[in-house]
Amino acid sequence: MAKIAILSDIHSNYEALTAVLAKCDEFGVDKYVSLGDIVGYNADPSICLEMVRSLDLICAVKGNHDEYASSNDDLMEGFNPHAKRAVLWTKTQLTSEQRNWLANMPLRATVPGTNITIVHATLDSPDNWGYVFDLHHAADNFAYQFTQICFCGHSHVPVAFYKKPISTMSERPIEEILAWTHQSDEGVSPKDTLVSDVLSVRLETGYKYLFNIGSVGQPRNHDPRASFAIIDTDTKEVFRQRVAYDFHTTQKKVLEAGLPERLAARLEYGN
Ligand code: ZN
Repeated sequence: MAKIAILSDIHSNYEALTAVLAKCDEFGVDKYVSLGDIVGYNADPSICLEMVRSLDLICAVKGNHDEYASSNDDLMEGFNPHAKRAVLWTKTQLTSEQRNWLANMPLRATVPGTNITIVHATLDSPDNWGYVFDLHHAADNFAYQFTQICFCGHSHVPVAFYKKPISTMSERPIEEILAWTHQSDEGVSPKDTLVSDVLSVRLETGYKYLFNIGSVGQPRNHDPRASFAIIDTDTKEVFRQRVAYDFHTTQKKVLEAGLPERLAARLEYGN
């Protein structure tokens, strides 16, 4: 079997992707899965897309930025103006072959030979681009999850849940795995979050799991480090890994490309 790296929301961030792939090598990763939003926001869409395509990529789904960067929908309803500007710029940077490749990715998929489903947003309605933040969203998702494990992205905020095989009336059937997010908004300073580089969850038989793995290229949980996950199908463990990268260079490229300043600034704060 294998160690599979799960990457999401790379968002044209070459420096973050390079740092993540180096860490994957260190970890002995064999195969890769992409949860979408390879492009958008930052300044290296073409090279990031080629880097992803050159990996031993066994499964990939489409994100909303991939969708808009590869379609003729220039209205992008509900998209914030910064994201929209970056998508319009991204379109000018991609070849039609690259845009076709993005356009042809499915919205959800089962990773071949595994008990894993992947989706960018949510399994219940992947094309509505909803977010998984709490137990209610997780419950909606689990109703459509027929594999033991589901990986999702989109919110750029790591969060994880499990569903028990049986639960009594007094118990909640679904619980959050708080350690997966533990640095979140409970008044913990970003410095504290630098303590742990890796978190692991051991998968128990009969339980279902939903992992939002955070973002490689635009982290939003007050930690600027790139976030991604690795699943070891032999030991049945999922690791969330964080990697520091040279975001100053990424910021410079965003500004030089004429993309919104806010997109550069947020990389430093992870928000
Ligand atoms: Zn995204």
